[in-house]
Amino acid sequence: MSASKEKAMQGVGVSPGIAIGRALVVARNPVQVPYRPLENQEQARREVERFQSALAATRAELTAARDELGDAMADYSYIIDAHLSILQDKMISQRTLDLISRQKINAEWALSLAEAEAKQVFENIQDEYIRSRFSDVAYVTELLLRHMSGQNHSQLSTIREKVVVVAHDLSPADTTQMDLDWIMGFVTDMGGPTSHTAIMAQAKAIPAVVGLERVTSEVSGGDFVIVDGSSGDLIINPDDETLHDYRDKQEAYELYAQEILTQAHLAAETVDGRFLDVGANIELSEEVGTVLTYGAESIGLYRTEFLYVSQATLPSEEDLFANFQAVALRMEGRPVNIRTLDIGGDKFASSLELAPEINPALGLRAIRYCLKERELFKNQLRAILRASAFGEVRVMFPLISGVGELLQAKEVLAEVTEELSAKGVDFDPDMKVGIMIEVPSAVAVADLLAEHVDFFSIGTNDLIQYSLAIDRVNEYVAHLYQPLHPAVLRMVRQVVNAGHAEGITVSMCGEMAGDVRSVPLLLGLGLDGLSMNALAIPRVKQILRQASARTWRDLARHALSYATAAEVSAFVDRELGRHFSEIFGPVPADPGAR
Ligand code: PEP
Ligand code: MG
Repeated sequence: MSASKEKAMQGVGVSPGIAIGRALVVARNPVQVPYRPLENQEQARREVERFQSALAATRAELTAARDELGDAMADYSYIIDAHLSILQDKMISQRTLDLISRQKINAEWALSLAEAEAKQVFENIQDEYIRSRFSDVAYVTELLLRHMSGQNHSQLSTIREKVVVVAHDLSPADTTQMDLDWIMGFVTDMGGPTSHTAIMAQAKAIPAVVGLERVTSEVSGGDFVIVDGSSGDLIINPDDETLHDYRDKQEAYELYAQEILTQAHLAAETVDGRFLDVGANIELSEEVGTVLTYGAESIGLYRTEFLYVSQATLPSEEDLFANFQAVALRMEGRPVNIRTLDIGGDKFASSLELAPEINPALGLRAIRYCLKERELFKNQLRAILRASAFGEVRVMFPLISGVGELLQAKEVLAEVTEELSAKGVDFDPDMKVGIMIEVPSAVAVADLLAEHVDFFSIGTNDLIQYSLAIDRVNEYVAHLYQPLHPAVLRMVRQVVNAGHAEGITVSMCGEMAGDVRSVPLLLGLGLDGLSMNALAIPRVKQILRQASARTWRDLARHALSYATAAEVSAFVDRELGRHFSEIFGPVPADPGAR
């Protein structure tokens, strides 16, 4: 294919599918940052003015980009809103103005000092997601620098041929400039699964690989590239054999995606007539569009922490209500389980001052934090209750360890309910109340807990962490994190039995629920619903529709007789091969495989 030698790079596949074509490297010549010491007050005044007009021009540019988003992308306007709020944040704007006058330096230099200070602050943040949001600050700084230097043109708006866009990073403002019909794939140096590129690419079903670090220096404009958005592979100047292989893979994937997406909306009914509720886990209200495309029947877990980590101040009841109401309305009567704030542990909020703890996973986390910070908790509960007037909204408490704690949480809910009734505010008086089962003590007393709630949802991410004593974010013990450990399976079984004995539904919303290799076993263990990353839904439904609940109930019983995770795993693999040879044979990369 090419005279150059084939080269492969590995990034993070964030939007599945395969793109093959010519690269367009979006050149962002680094903006020069000149240094000019200022000699007098008049020069300082001029620099302040230059900076203020760059602020105004950048604000106008971002606002125009937001207005142009169009219906299909309207959900993503919050990303541009985030850029607009960074523009106003005193960390950047006020600090730059201070530096101009105090240090008597030109606006560009002052701005890059302010950016460097912000970078230090972000680097000290524990939470990976928030740390990664420094890229937004860098993006806004670059826009400002471009306005001050007068180099604010972009080649994105002129794309008129099919290309794979290779960029350092892409923001929604960048994407509004492109006609997406010409874009076959995206690859970027920066970004992870929650980056803007990832969210936008998924929404538009464009294959994307992010986090390649140096891709803009490795690929030249016009190079032939292959983007595998499922595996995260990028091949530059492939040789004929590779190209041939990938063309086959592309064809197979497209057929597969077409078939699986057309079936994604069918119910997850097993061959012997058992229905499972297959739902999605979300962190942002804007994900609802993608969730529905991929066939979710509910939102099994709405993690609400993002509302607290995305801003410097606490969200008001109105902010929360508007957000929950929007999700409820867009789900049109499908269930939405809103989990109350699960902050602490590995989850950190910029708007909350959490005390440093020696052992945060065992510390003031989730429901414990909320029971201590009553006003914050009540604020959230009020918003959830009010949203229940607009759909099938349910409340779910995380990290419940026993009946005493659950009753305390329910008492606060009852107080809030009374307050709202007294004020004549609309809400669903029968709103369902559920808990996450993710602490081993809750498993032990699941029968007692079941008497007080309408549903259980098993959070295997934490349940495995706490029961096997494996820190879920510690790479040194990652190999010991075993969902198929007999202890985990027994706990799942115990929770299902306890819930069913009391007549309540038992679902699972940890990562295990979206793992296609575990799904038939979970069916066999008797779960009523599974909630997962939306992209995994079509595949999971496909498997459930081909499975027999009766057969897997027997197989699950058998799996429970093994003593080690390795034995269970070997048994499950064997049975999957036997019952789903088409699926678990060599299959094209799939959206659920991430
Ligand atoms: C879990 O613990 O399994 C879960 C779904 O919650 P989170 O990952 O948000 O703690
Ligand atoms: Mg959890």
